[in-house]
Amino acid sequence: MHIAIREKPVKLLWLEALKRRLFEEDPDFGFYHEQFRRLDAGFAGEKRVDREWHELICPYTFSVLHNLILINSAQHSHQLDTLFICSHFMLIVEIKNINGRLDFDDFTHQCIRTKPNGTVEGFPNAITQTQRHMQFLKVIFQNYSLPIEGAVIISNPSAIIASHPNTIPIFHVSGLQKHLNSLFEKYTKTILSNEQLTQITQQLLTRNQPSKVPTSIDPSRFRQGVLCPKCQYKSQMHYARGIWRCSSCQYASEEIFAEALQDYRYLVKPTITNKQLREFFDIPSSDAANRLLRKFQFPYTGSYKNRVYHLPENLVDYMKPFFRSS
Ligand SMILES: [Zn+2]
Repeated sequence: MHIAIREKPVKLLWLEALKRRLFEEDPDFGFYHEQFRRLDAGFAGEKRVDREWHELICPYTFSVLHNLILINSAQHSHQLDTLFICSHFMLIVEIKNINGRLDFDDFTHQCIRTKPNGTVEGFPNAITQTQRHMQFLKVIFQNYSLPIEGAVIISNPSAIIASHPNTIPIFHVSGLQKHLNSLFEKYTKTILSNEQLTQITQQLLTRNQPSKVPTSIDPSRFRQGVLCPKCQYKSQMHYARGIWRCSSCQYASEEIFAEALQDYRYLVKPTITNKQLREFFDIPSSDAANRLLRKFQFPYTGSYKNRVYHLPENLVDYMKPFFRSS
């Protein structure tokens, strides 16, 4: 059994950093907040479905992969929320965390959501998306005669699934085990050996293209420095003797630097020099900046004066063991 852990997509981390820092008067402030809200809800919905896989009763060895981004021959991407593979079949799962009444139109290929207050909104049709992914995986795995199935899971328990075509099953998260049971009954023939299953899983993980930071935002549009979480990230914290202190509410923290540096990594760039650190985080002395950079043992290139430090991914987790309190 192999169940991958779903990691926060880079785009969500980027939006999280931007949400903390973008000035309220920015013309795109509302747009990015809405994007964040949608993506964050989507991620929460996916996490909710992920819990089901851990409790899954499956008669065969299986793999579950999350958030796979694969590129097809036309250079278009396929983002698969979850892919379940066992020796008998493969199941592509598209996850939607939307509330209200959902109508899936087979002719217009649209998903229409009607909120309890009557507001009507259009969404990309998850059924059409799933069919597109199925076609693509059929091409990739044409050498194996493994059946490829698809399903759409609605992770919001209060959503009402109204009209929908019968092409792809669509159900609430609680129906996952039952749906899989029906597939176990439908596909009784063993097609993949355990070695082949491992091979396919590895092949997909190798092809996976992790998402990239969507676009660059001019640094004049967002607040710089280490920002105080107690002041809703509106006031800056200052560095003295290894501690960051808020000039407004006096909140003090050493570890808050990790989150701020992660914001820098996503919003500015994944490398930093002593000078850039001093400028962005308002550190007065070069020695203090140097001590700070060395403390976390970031990989670097270049000689002493022109040293460029490379900030690892998952920076907050990476930096955790280097703080005094931990
Ligand atoms: Zn404060």
